[in-house]
Amino acid sequence: MVVVMLRGCPESNIEDVIERIHHHPGLSAHLVRGVERTVVGVVGQTFPELKDMLEMLPGVEAVLPISKPYKLSSREFQVEDTTFKVGDVTIGGPDLVVMAGPCAVESEEQVVATARAVKAAGAHILRGGAFKPSTSPYSFRGKGKEGLEILAVARQETGLPIITEVMAPGDVELVAEYTDVLQVGTRNMQNYILLDEVGKANKPVMLKRGFAATIQEWLLSAEYILSQGNRRLMLCERGIRTFETYTRNTMDVSAVPVIHKESHLPVIGDPSHGTGKWDLVTPLALAVVAAGADGLLIEVHPTPDTALKDGAQSLTFENFQRLMEKVAVVAQAVGRPLAPNLAGSATRR
Ligand code: PEP
Ligand code: MN
Repeated sequence: MVVVMLRGCPESNIEDVIERIHHHPGLSAHLVRGVERTVVGVVGQTFPELKDMLEMLPGVEAVLPISKPYKLSSREFQVEDTTFKVGDVTIGGPDLVVMAGPCAVESEEQVVATARAVKAAGAHILRGGAFKPSTSPYSFRGKGKEGLEILAVARQETGLPIITEVMAPGDVELVAEYTDVLQVGTRNMQNYILLDEVGKANKPVMLKRGFAATIQEWLLSAEYILSQGNRRLMLCERGIRTFETYTRNTMDVSAVPVIHKESHLPVIGDPSHGTGKWDLVTPLALAVVAAGADGLLIEVHPTPDTALKDGAQSLTFENFQRLMEKVAVVAQAVGRPLAPNLAGSATRR
């Protein structure tokens, strides 16, 4: 449930409400100060008398139930969109943000060249996997810590913030030392121990949709992260498994407006994994931008045909440049212009 505070009520009223909630074992309070209203979310094992108890406290305007099983991630809990900064760009703000880079970190040369190319084309965040989840144990599983070090060099060289995947709860601390955003991959969307850990980390998180997860399951996974106190969370639609085999996954474009309706969390579209085919990446990127996505995640490689991972869905530098030109037009048309190109900014920091 949410406790809606009276506009302009003294701070002590809010503190009293939070204290009263924490007095009950199994309940936690989550404060959100919106422009329109300040609310305290109550999650955990609520009980029938709680509503009346909280409603009697000074400064409380109303106590409203949240009808959905996901609470902190729901629009009912927080009316305003979640926004937060990654480096100099704002996720969930008025501008569209683009994250781009190779599927996997292979070498310093590969990552730095890609970072420079995607930055020049207008990308805002560099992606690249150091810890790679793989369907087969025989395919490339990433360079681990060395991969994180390479990403750090690319950040140093270009000034682009980094997003990279963390696969194991025990690696969260290490990965968080290097990255600006922690990515939770599709296969780990329901790894609840990992979700708890990234929820405790002091870094923004991107939670990819499980390839066989419903939107409700996805938002319940988001709930794990939010309930640990990490509010800097974005979601990523990366395609789901359907009966169709032509594409690697079926890009669920409808998930974008559904998430915006159900949740205040930003949603990123990943047409690279969503289609698995490089020539389908641009059309689906345009579709998710038109559908209101807050950003894009695009795989780019200097030579896709020699890529150790996901070459078939990776764009060349030239094709990425073309994608960005088209995205800029659609983004403008739907009132979500591309965030400013950082290419003119300092290359080192
Ligand atoms: C990736 O981003 O390279 C990745 C492994 O994505 P997903 O978890 O969506 O398969
Ligand atoms: Mn990939």
